[in-house]
Amino acid sequence: MAENGEEELLDYSDSEDVAPVAPTTAASTTAAATDSKEENGDKKGSYVGIHSTGFRDFLLKPELLRAIVDCGFEHPSEVQQVCIPQSILGTDVLCQAKSGLGKTAVFVLSTLQQLDPVPGEVSVVVMCHTRELAYQIKNEYSRFSKYMPEVRTAVFFGGTSIMKDVEVIKNKETSPHIIVATPGRLNALVRDKYLRLNNVKVFVLDECDKMLDTTDMRRDVQEIFRATPHQKQVMMFSATLSQEIRPICKKFMQNPLEIYVDDETKLTLHGLQQYYLKLEEQEKNRKLNDLLDTLEFNQVIIFVKSTVRANQLNKLLVDCNFPSIAVHSGMPQEERIARFKEFKEFNKRICVATDVFGRGIDIERINLAINYDLPSDADSYLHRVGRAGRFGTKGLAISFVSSKEDAEVLDKIQERFEVNIAPFPEEGVDPATYMNT
Ligand code: ADP
Repeated sequence: MAENGEEELLDYSDSEDVAPVAPTTAASTTAAATDSKEENGDKKGSYVGIHSTGFRDFLLKPELLRAIVDCGFEHPSEVQQVCIPQSILGTDVLCQAKSGLGKTAVFVLSTLQQLDPVPGEVSVVVMCHTRELAYQIKNEYSRFSKYMPEVRTAVFFGGTSIMKDVEVIKNKETSPHIIVATPGRLNALVRDKYLRLNNVKVFVLDECDKMLDTTDMRRDVQEIFRATPHQKQVMMFSATLSQEIRPICKKFMQNPLEIYVDDETKLTLHGLQQYYLKLEEQEKNRKLNDLLDTLEFNQVIIFVKSTVRANQLNKLLVDCNFPSIAVHSGMPQEERIARFKEFKEFNKRICVATDVFGRGIDIERINLAINYDLPSDADSYLHRVGRAGRFGTKGLAISFVSSKEDAEVLDKIQERFEVNIAPFPEEGVDPATYMNT
């Protein structure tokens, strides 16, 4: 067995702890499922053309279709239309599609569709880069397997007792058919022979560029991959897939369906208004205070560059009576999940976070994202602001620019994604233009 909690030292979620992601280059050719009908406005599920297929056309199991109806999904998004028919046939999939348009449902639905649960056998492994995202994906499995009582999904991540995970695996009543996990913990369970993955049929990586770009995570992913059978389906997803990372992803795959958004301008969320505010570092708190006082929003996520700053800023906001909460990797894991839930359940309206929430996290009521600290690369910006404006809804993003480096990042973002990020207007922004009615 590993040193107790050894892998818990590896927490990849805060970007301050890892090397910056290499910049991506724009590509040219491949067909894209870009969900680009932005002009359709802000209605949820508005990304569907008149001639589009419905979920029924995928010939899914009736118990899945019932759950889809219960979830309020009326029409598949474009990425779902392109990927689901192929993925339920067992094809490998490497898929890039912009934030918030339902990549999760692609692999959740297609793995549940294919699953034939055998007691004591793990058939599906899904990995992602943060613990909260793993928790969120597990909940998606719970939602969609609601009418499949025989299907069991478990979530494993670091920062919690590994022996609890072992109990879940060993107990016949709880041993999972589907595992959602972060790579450090999963690798520890496999390495220490608590878990056998020799029956795995589907291997999924969400936020795959992040997982394969980060050395520690990539090593764990590779070791876990080697513990699974050669013959299996592999699916990978992200909103950002640079030219450099694609061949690395494809090394894990056989003849995959490849969906890229080579025209990076199509990654921009058009329901999202984006502004910047030039100011001095020491003016940030005052300005943030003003914005939170004057802007209307349902929920706001405020990104900072370090755990220390997250704590300090949150304290400041709480002292000013704002309903704020902080989430970052510098707190016990139970606390992190508890805070994530508190925010998701709308008990708090303001969340100060590091990049632990920069990707993947789906909270429907967030319609304002503030970069108190601008990230150091354009990809991170794209993921962060994508937290506002999920599934084609409207939203507002405001970024503080306080240094030469910030200004350079801002230029790069505008150039790469062809998005016009204007100075935040002095008179403010009409709430009707970014609030969903
Ligand atoms: P991505 O992984 O592409 O960033 P998610 O899978 O997190 O996006 O989906 C974003 C939101 O859209 C989620 O709240 C999800 O429940 C919702 N959603 C996904 N597909 C549909 C659909 N076909 N109809 C309505 N809502 C959907």
